[in-house]
Amino acid sequence: MKTTHRIAVIPGDGIGKEVVPEGLRSLEAAARIFNLDLEFTHFDFASADYYLKHGTMMPGDWEEQLTGFDAIYFGAVGWPDVVPDHISLWDSLLQFRRRFDQYVNLRPVKLLPGVPSPLANRKPGDVDFYVVRENTEGEYSSVGGVMFEGTDREVVMQETVMTRVGVDRILKYAFDLASRREAKSLTSATKSNGISISMPYWDTRVATMAENYPGVSVDKFHIDILTANFVLHPDWFDVVVASNLFGDILSDLGPAVTGTIGVAPSANINPEGLFPSLFEPVHGSAPDIAGRGIANPIGQIWCGAMMLEHLGYSQAATAIQDAFESVLAEADAQVLTPDLGGHGTTGILGTAIAERITK
Ligand code: ATP
Ligand code: MG
Repeated sequence: MKTTHRIAVIPGDGIGKEVVPEGLRSLEAAARIFNLDLEFTHFDFASADYYLKHGTMMPGDWEEQLTGFDAIYFGAVGWPDVVPDHISLWDSLLQFRRRFDQYVNLRPVKLLPGVPSPLANRKPGDVDFYVVRENTEGEYSSVGGVMFEGTDREVVMQETVMTRVGVDRILKYAFDLASRREAKSLTSATKSNGISISMPYWDTRVATMAENYPGVSVDKFHIDILTANFVLHPDWFDVVVASNLFGDILSDLGPAVTGTIGVAPSANINPEGLFPSLFEPVHGSAPDIAGRGIANPIGQIWCGAMMLEHLGYSQAATAIQDAFESVLAEADAQVLTPDLGGHGTTGILGTAIAERITK
């Protein structure tokens, strides 16, 4: 008997509403071809429209509404003319991350055919790695405060919080991922030469975890030279694991070296499957191009492939990935969106990819 997978679909704002239908088109094609039972339920919250109607980003019972779903397929949130960004983000996505303990933020960094890299002399195949970011603790804690506020003696402190459980679980995820990949290589982002308590602790936990993975080669770089090497030697990396702040920086830099932000996907994962994981493109709601039908849908489509992989359907995931890579490789200007140098639309590119999916 087929297992039914319940997917919550939250398009959100701006181009989120334009690219999500294209992502669903590819998912539906893959489901048909690979005989998967995906059941999509649409939600209108986590959007500016919802905020305008209700004065909040989400209903009070959003947790109950989303509990029991296997995954959340998310577009983009944010419409600064209507809701200040700190409200739209904090009262939606960040709530999901926390409540659903999505402690892994996973971003593939892959140079695709037909997408020019801003780096000279780089071809597809040279850049193909993952950034694994710790998503719940570390530098983004609210521990701290201000003393002598408003006086000349003002002192501001904000602490980094690392727990053994929190550090070990992200390292385990990264080592597991590295051990499944061909290169079997893991890079740790650190700064133990400057941050003298928390980062040496991180290094110690990496060394301890490495003992369980004799087949994985491990190295570490300080974050400053690591960012330089993302640009100078992106071919060195396979799986890069980082704390919350360092991972935040690296996971924006990664997609930047692969050309357009429009193709980059991201997953917020609860690996144990106790809560739904969330799949969203790296880009935002892009108010500057929203409503014109020219947004690149590939980031959203790739998210669908990551979601299928997470649900255990590797072949279907690969089929979606192969489909957009082959459409990109043909570089037909009628089909590609303007950010890729073409004059196609979101719908034309989305349809071309969905039609290309085969076993
Ligand atoms: P966030 O909402 O995450 O803060 P942002 O407002 O910083 O994001 P985006 O909304 O991602 O930024 O837009 C940044 C730039 O990239 C804009 O010029 C936008 O038009 C462009 N862009 C973003 N996504 C796409 C896409 N899918 N296709 C084409 N261009 C895109
Ligand atoms: Mg924005």
